[in-house]
Amino acid sequence: MIDPFGRSITYLRVSVTDRCDLRCVYCMAEDMHFLPKAEVLSLEELGRVCAAFIRLGTRKIRLTGGEPLVRRNVMNLFHRLGARLGNGLDELTVTTNGTQLAKLAGSLREAGVRRVNVSLDTLDPAKFTAITRWGRIEQTLDGIYAAAAAGLAVKINAVALKGVNEDEFDTLIAWCGAHGFDLCLIETMPMGEITGDRTKQYLPLSIVRSRLRRRWTLEETDYRTGGPARYYTVAETGRRVGFITPMTHNFCESCNRVRLTCTGTLFMCLGQEDSADLRGVLRAGASDEELDGAILAAIRRKPKGHDFIIDRRHNRPAVSRHMSVTGG
Ligand code: SAM
Ligand code: SF4
Repeated sequence: MIDPFGRSITYLRVSVTDRCDLRCVYCMAEDMHFLPKAEVLSLEELGRVCAAFIRLGTRKIRLTGGEPLVRRNVMNLFHRLGARLGNGLDELTVTTNGTQLAKLAGSLREAGVRRVNVSLDTLDPAKFTAITRWGRIEQTLDGIYAAAAAGLAVKINAVALKGVNEDEFDTLIAWCGAHGFDLCLIETMPMGEITGDRTKQYLPLSIVRSRLRRRWTLEETDYRTGGPARYYTVAETGRRVGFITPMTHNFCESCNRVRLTCTGTLFMCLGQEDSADLRGVLRAGASDEELDGAILAAIRRKPKGHDFIIDRRHNRPAVSRHMSVTGG
């Protein structure tokens, strides 16, 4: 799958549910309304779309959400996709808030998962509860340690929030170093209506990086995970720290991915509204050939890049859907 700008599309992110057991303040409103079940693709339908993508050249699939590990029987999908590893697929990964990892880390490893991204914005229990609105940090930490014990490489994702966790990045780097985890810092993106003012949360990572340099030696690397992060090695810990900067750095030129929502909508760009309705295609009884055709037609419309600008005058997000819909 080659898009109009010559980029080879080899990476699919799949949001397997819009639901979540937490309500992170930058991600969701407190009173989120979730989708009725009939609108959500069954695990079989998701598996069929993934199989089509693999047939068309996708080498890496990441399951995300919402919280992917709260979807009932989601391990069936992991096993089905895991069976394609070395047989079309190079890598199967997951992004999770970690609450279910204590229970599921072993099964993920059995299914063929080798790396997990776990979101953890703070190491302070009270702050964790405030950011997630009701989460308990022990549950996520237990999950993270269980993942490491099961032999999964762990990368911690932390969203940089002005005035909330900006004093903690040194601590997070040290903690990740001590446990052998990589860390990835993410800028807040203006996606979906949330409670509160998003412009107040926005903290440019260029500032964070120069502050980190006061304490740590950040060595440039060309390490890539297939995602948009720019990585440095922290000389003092030997672990990597990555920066995902959609707001300050345009990472679109090397974009190799598209995103499927749990309703079967394919977004060719996280920051644009154009999409393709694969659920309609599936439920109209499409053959594999017709499904492939619909996917290829969508890839031909992949835009050059995104343009995240917070609509300050109306204080509206640039993209109306929540991150939990498209999957981070
Ligand atoms: N529930 C899982 C988790 O929290 O890791 C997977 C889905 S979550 C939407 C994926 C990632 O997106 C998380 O690391 C989260 O912190 C990040 N995220 C959510 N809303 C965001 C926003 N508005 N801007 C930047 N990152 C966001
Ligand atoms: Fe849930 Fe992940 Fe969004 Fe937090 S970031 S509310 S854990 S989907």
